[in-house]
Amino acid sequence: MTLRGGYDVILAGRPDKTLSPMPDPDTLYLPRKTRRFHFTDVRVKDGNAVGQGDALATDPANFSVPLLAPRAGKVVYDPTAPYITLADLAKTPAQVQPADAAAPLPHVARAMGDGGRSRHRLLSLGAWEYFYDAYTAALPDPFGVCQAVIVSTVALEPFVARGDAQLGGKLLNFTRGLEHLQSLLEYQPIYLVMPDIHSPLATQVREQIRGNAWVKLVEIPPRYPFDSFSVLARHLGIRRSAGPVWCLRAEGVLAVDQALTGGRPCLTRIVAVGGPPVSSPRHYEVLPGHPLTDLAARLGLGSNVRLLDGGALTGQKAELSDKNGVDPACRGLTALTEQTDREFLGFVRPGADRRSYAACFLSTLRGRFSEKLTTGMRGEPRPCIGCNFCEEVCPAGILPYLIHKHLYADQIDEAAGARVDLCVECGLCSFVCPCKIELMQQFIDAKVVIAREKAEAEAAAAKAAAEEAARAAAVQESR
Ligand code: SF4
Ligand code: SF4
Repeated sequence: MTLRGGYDVILAGRPDKTLSPMPDPDTLYLPRKTRRFHFTDVRVKDGNAVGQGDALATDPANFSVPLLAPRAGKVVYDPTAPYITLADLAKTPAQVQPADAAAPLPHVARAMGDGGRSRHRLLSLGAWEYFYDAYTAALPDPFGVCQAVIVSTVALEPFVARGDAQLGGKLLNFTRGLEHLQSLLEYQPIYLVMPDIHSPLATQVREQIRGNAWVKLVEIPPRYPFDSFSVLARHLGIRRSAGPVWCLRAEGVLAVDQALTGGRPCLTRIVAVGGPPVSSPRHYEVLPGHPLTDLAARLGLGSNVRLLDGGALTGQKAELSDKNGVDPACRGLTALTEQTDREFLGFVRPGADRRSYAACFLSTLRGRFSEKLTTGMRGEPRPCIGCNFCEEVCPAGILPYLIHKHLYADQIDEAAGARVDLCVECGLCSFVCPCKIELMQQFIDAKVVIAREKAEAEAAAAKAAAEEAARAAAVQESR
């Protein structure tokens, strides 16, 4: 697949690559259910004192990936609350002693060898949660085999953490992390994705990995969403049927290095904080579970601000409450000013101050400029006008307006036939749609329904087959 579609979205308030530490709060609220994981197996009790890096809970459905304590503190646990509270936090981070990489791990079978030990360390020290499967976005099996690895240093969605901000001063750790990754593989290639393979950063990387033919540099156009793992895998011609494709971003490679070189857990996150109401959009090193209200207060955000967990195109509204903490998988927080007054027929005004995918606005004559993002850009939802913009930008090569029409008519089988499963959930169709139809969310919901119906049909078929086999066995026995 060649890269097609995409859109260079330019919005005001993009974070620069400056990285600042965010002071620790007094209390952390670690969500038990995150976008990727559900930590149902709680390992601590109310009142326990825990050390930095201890496992508070694990997700049994995802290879027991742990929820780690970012700081030493006292657990306040209420099984009915959707979070685990960590109070009385240690004022300074502990100096975690590097684990002895050669030390035996009693719970890892000796037969697993060094590779198994490394994988176990990645899982238990919180580095494995940075891994994704290209096609399903699920957590890959840490003890499984992959056909290739994709490492992306590119973040093209506005307001999510950039690779260059994460890599600042850590190039050696990054290349060492790549070598650790390679040690987990046999002969599978590692594709390193960069926006410009002739940039100073790419040249430095090339210098450091010289002689390592297993890393292949791949250049992609800086158009959103060509950094999507699913789009990249298809672009690289990696077939889904040939097995899992492990994918991770720059922060994942640094986490691998941290876990396997130093034996240290991954306890902080680099989060881009941007949007028009943020006076100095930049990157912050934040503890998971940091209360969002505390963050908003430290950033000087007023009460008429909406916060999104994620970037401008795929972020989800985050509840600004005292006990809602930063999701461990958060890569960006986008602040938008709530637009309370309605602009009458705003969508038909040929404004020079608003960007549009359509070339009919006066702004087309202005050339490139950043548009100010608000919660009410260009009015309210209207029926589809068949403009075709969603099809033009869609990197998956499907017809969003057609799938929308099927779903609107409750024709879920037809939507499945139109390959809604290929949607990579980039949100571009919703962004360019002049009618403000929430296409991406409709497709996410439809995929859930289709997957559930498929699982139910498979379960029913398996049950029928088992009953048939039992009936045949009974007939055989009676003869
Ligand atoms: S249909 Fe899916 S892949 Fe295509 S633009 Fe919309 S969200 Fe992106
Ligand atoms: S962009 Fe919106 S209005 Fe245009 S065809 Fe797609 S769904 Fe319809």
